[in-house]
Amino acid sequence: MTDDCIFCAIVAGDIPARTVYETDEVLAFLDANPLARGHTLVIPKDHAQHVGDLDPERSRALFDAVSTLTPRVQAAVDADAATVGINDGEAAGQEVPHVHVHLIPRFDGDGGGP
Ligand code: 5GP
Ligand code: ZN
Repeated sequence: MTDDCIFCAIVAGDIPARTVYETDEVLAFLDANPLARGHTLVIPKDHAQHVGDLDPERSRALFDAVSTLTPRVQAAVDADAATVGINDGEAAGQEVPHVHVHLIPRFDGDGGGP
């Protein structure tokens, strides 16, 4: 838990979120400003700002969750594909300084990525 981190506050239950998946190490919840229906964020519960800060165990737990959830999220909204991505660092568009993987359902003809 890091003070002033929105996603740590979500993990702690201090800020509400629509949780879709949870393990001891990982939490997934719907994005508050979705780029598509079902846009989901997958985060490690322990605070880390950059992907390179994750130890192997947390990296594995995070990617296991991503690979489990991607087809489920896709199926839930009847999507044709998914964009799976991480903005790692401010210049890459990272606004929340807590590692998060975007799972963005994609539809035939929806025209370009985020
Ligand atoms: P970034 O630009 O850091 O890769 O993405 C941050 C994402 O977090 C954005 O898509 C934004 O909509 C989402 N977000 C920011 N604050 C909150 C929040 O309090 N709750 C939820 N569910 N999503 C948030
Ligand atoms: Zn955090």
